[in-house]
Amino acid sequence: MGQSKKLLAGVIRNDRQMADARTIRYYDSSPHERAAQDQRPVEAQPPIGELRLDPLVNEWVAMAAHRQSRIFLPPKELCPLCPTTGDLLTEIPESDYEVVVFDNRSPSLRAPIGDWALPDQVGPDTDTGTAAGKCEVICFTAEHGNSFKDLSEQRVRVLLEAWIDRTEELSKESYIQHIAPFENRGEEIGVTISHPHGQIYAYSYLPPRVEKMLAAATTYKKQTNKILFDEVVAREIKDKVRIVAQNDRWIAFVPFAARYPFEIHVAPRNPVADLTGLTEQDRAAYAPIALEVMKRLDGVFGVEMAYIAAWHQAPVRVGRDVLRLHWQITSVRRAPGKLKYLAGSESAMGAFIMDVQPEQSAAQLREVIL
Ligand SMILES: [Zn+2]
Repeated sequence: MGQSKKLLAGVIRNDRQMADARTIRYYDSSPHERAAQDQRPVEAQPPIGELRLDPLVNEWVAMAAHRQSRIFLPPKELCPLCPTTGDLLTEIPESDYEVVVFDNRSPSLRAPIGDWALPDQVGPDTDTGTAAGKCEVICFTAEHGNSFKDLSEQRVRVLLEAWIDRTEELSKESYIQHIAPFENRGEEIGVTISHPHGQIYAYSYLPPRVEKMLAAATTYKKQTNKILFDEVVAREIKDKVRIVAQNDRWIAFVPFAARYPFEIHVAPRNPVADLTGLTEQDRAAYAPIALEVMKRLDGVFGVEMAYIAAWHQAPVRVGRDVLRLHWQITSVRRAPGKLKYLAGSESAMGAFIMDVQPEQSAAQLREVIL
C-alpha cells in the first residue's frame, strides 16, 4: 500500500507507484481508497538530459532531445490524462480522480544520481552538467473538456493544497533551487494535450527571469531598505486604474509595464515568500479571485484565451527575504483572431513593445459581465 498524508482543508494525499516506478499522488477532498494498479507494460525511462551553458548570457539551457517523440494533441479517446476506463489505460490508473500529481513521463529535468553540483561557469570552457531537477504533471480534473475556470471553488482549494504540498516536499531536495508551478492553455502557445492540467518544474539552478528579479529586488532593498514587490502592490492599490479584481486577502492587477496584451498579476495582500507561507485565510480566499480572473480573461472576447499562468516564488535557498509569491497570467491574444507574436525586438533583443495600454486592458477585463 502507498502512503497517506493529511493536508489542510481536509485534503488527503495518497501515494501509489506506477508500473514504471514513478509516483502518482492523489489529492482528494474526502477519504477515497486509491488502490487501482497501473496495468500498463513497463517502458524504459529516458536517460537524464544535459545542461549546457550559453556563455554569451550566462544562462543554462536544458537539452532534452528525447522529448521530440512525446505525444502531441491526442484525440480525447486517447488522452493520457483522463482516468483509466475499459481498455484505455492512462497515466491515472483510477476510474475517477480529483487532483493528481505524477512524475512526467518525458521529463526535461530529473533527479540526479549521487552528489550533484552545477559546473563552475568559465565561459565556453564550462563543463556540461546533468539536467538535474524534477518535472511533474498536475491534473486539475478528470473532466477532459473543462478549463481551470470551470472548476469548483472546492476543487481550486484542493489544487492549491497540492501546489503547496509539492513546493514543501520538493524544497527538501538538496539539488533543487527553484520551484515553478505553471499552466499553459491553448494550442496557440504550444499545449500538446488539451486536458486541464499544469506542470511543476523544480530547477537545480535559478531560471534567468528569477535571477533578474532577484538582482532587481536585492538592489532595491540596498538602496531603499524596502521590498520591491510590496512597493509595486502598494502603487497598484494607490493608482486603482489597473486593478482587475480583489478581495480581502488578494489583489489582481494588470502590471504598470505589462508586456502582453492581457497580463494579470495576482498577489496576496499579506506578502509571503512562497506558497507554503500562505495562511488559512489566504488559502480560503484564493479560489474566488482565481476563478474570477480566469472568467474575466475568457470573457473579454468571448473566446477561450490562450494563456500561461505561472506561480513566481522566492527560490528555495536564496532571496527569501526580498522576493514575494505571486501568480502571473499572460495571454498572447490582443484581439479576436489576432495574436501577439514574439518577433524581432522581443525574441532577438528581449525588448518588449506593447500596443495595448495596460490601463485599457484592465478596463476591458473589469467590464466583463460575469
Ligand atoms: Zn483527457
